[in-house]
Amino acid sequence: MSDRPVLQGFTPERLEPLLSPVGASLAECRRIVAHVIQRGNDDLREVSQVRAPVRNAATREFSVGRMTVHERHASQLDPFVKYVMKCHDGAEIETVRIPLEKPGRFSVCVSSQVGCAMGCTFCATGRMGFARNLEAWEIVEQIRIVARELRASGEGRVHGVVFQGMGEPMHNLDNVLQALEIISNPCGLAVDGRNVTVCTVGIVPGIERLASIKTRVRLGISVTSARSMVRRSLVPSEGKYPIREVIRAAKTFYERSGHLVMLAYALLGGINTTADEAEAIAELLREMPARLSLIEWNPVEGLPYRPPTEEERASFHDALAKLGVPVVRRYSGGKDIGAACGQLATATSRDDVRAARSTTV
Ligand code: SF4
Repeated sequence: MSDRPVLQGFTPERLEPLLSPVGASLAECRRIVAHVIQRGNDDLREVSQVRAPVRNAATREFSVGRMTVHERHASQLDPFVKYVMKCHDGAEIETVRIPLEKPGRFSVCVSSQVGCAMGCTFCATGRMGFARNLEAWEIVEQIRIVARELRASGEGRVHGVVFQGMGEPMHNLDNVLQALEIISNPCGLAVDGRNVTVCTVGIVPGIERLASIKTRVRLGISVTSARSMVRRSLVPSEGKYPIREVIRAAKTFYERSGHLVMLAYALLGGINTTADEAEAIAELLREMPARLSLIEWNPVEGLPYRPPTEEERASFHDALAKLGVPVVRRYSGGKDIGAACGQLATATSRDDVRAARSTTV
């Protein structure tokens, strides 16, 4: 790949100063960005209403980054689609297309890293280890590819984005924030920030940084357990960032942004669906208005967990409701294609990771 900066990593406002030596106007930069990101056209010679010197400089000094769809798996159970995307260096990441309730609207679950360093014991990505951070343009490119496919097939458009694929977004926050600017820019992917959720396992400094900036983006926290010892056995980062501190930081985000925090809770049969757990959650959430999204954990080969039985799920749900914790049951689709919660991991990068060591949900 060329070492020129990649256009998908720029908003028009960031591009303008770099093209100012040839007298590019902000309007021309908007046309260039919209041409590449919004219309999905990689040929800069076809950009219209941009003067030749500006077009030539953009072509000469920038490149259009490419990620290819290595595999595409459409679920037979529901309208979820999983993409295995190949990066320029051969690394593979996974992206999931999620149908929303309203026909023609889709959300894209994106990866922010190749692998993940967090090592959550119930997560397929956690087993891979960490290879590298994704660049901002590589995050944008996952959405651009799905948007282009939806447009070509006439199926609809990208309405939302959720950072819940491979990786911990708070560990790659500079690139994630840069990608967020492009995702919500009217000349970029034009997705309303209110429909974008950044999910974390609970990296307190990252949550605090997100809380300190003016953003329409939503925050999601993967709770997993409100009992520290149990959580520690599932989410190693609990040792450094206990769930109480995570919720305290999330409360700050809520107070500053006014946006309710999405709390995701992966149900692991026999582990975190007990009455004690329900009480600990009620206690934990006493000071922050929140709604708990219950998601059934999906089997991952080789991991010593099981999904909850229907009885466990129902009694946990009832116990939480009786304690006044607002709960919603969230459907985690694409189970048959390994696209569901906790299942994302690419075989190739798992091998790469092992080799590199001797590299998220
Ligand atoms: S659950 Fe998220 S943070 Fe934990 S290992 Fe998986 S991808 Fe990483």
